[in-house]
Amino acid sequence: MNHPNPPTKHPDRSRLRRALLLGAGATALSAIVYTAVSITGHGDSRHSNTAVGAVDQAGAAWSAASGANYRAADRPHDYAIDRIVVHVTESTQPIAEQVFQDPGHRASAHYLIRADDGHITQMVREHDVAFQAGNREWNNSSIGIEHEGFVNQPDRWFTEAAYKASAELVAGIAERHDVPLDREHIVGHNEVPDATHTDPGPRWDWDRYMALVRSV
Ligand SMILES: [Zn+2]
Repeated sequence: MNHPNPPTKHPDRSRLRRALLLGAGATALSAIVYTAVSITGHGDSRHSNTAVGAVDQAGAAWSAASGANYRAADRPHDYAIDRIVVHVTESTQPIAEQVFQDPGHRASAHYLIRADDGHITQMVREHDVAFQAGNREWNNSSIGIEHEGFVNQPDRWFTEAAYKASAELVAGIAERHDVPLDREHIVGHNEVPDATHTDPGPRWDWDRYMALVRSV
């Protein structure tokens, strides 16, 4: 599951930063216009698909997390994406989806995978920063995948369908962002520096998972 991030004092910093990134020649007016565009709907033309409900992974369903549970960003232009963090929800899929939609939760993930059939729900766009790793730097540079289930019931929840769907998703993310397919870059939440969470737990089958990832 996810580790809440401390609330940022400057929620508009990324937009301001983007405006500033326009360069020294940008006038205050153009910065204002640019900011307005980004507020009204991710108007950044560099994103491949900015339509409402668009997903990064083909076949995923879209269900938006609350805006309080992630930070709008412009990755990879502001932060490079170089890691994928594997989580287990410690809840059922519907409950996890609900809490990521709850603005009081202060945490989310980019993707949520259902155990029984490997159905993938995307809840945060890959260019945005989901509060999932419990570490601000890692949040900025990673994509988080939640798997429905409980770490101490691997036989019930860590299904063939979930491993397979997750491996295909990881391969897709890795291709989009040039993430190496190794255990330095595809990590468990428990392996994030300063992690206080233990998911996906000792029963997550990393050997099987990585073999599937590399075979996609
Ligand atoms: Zn976690």
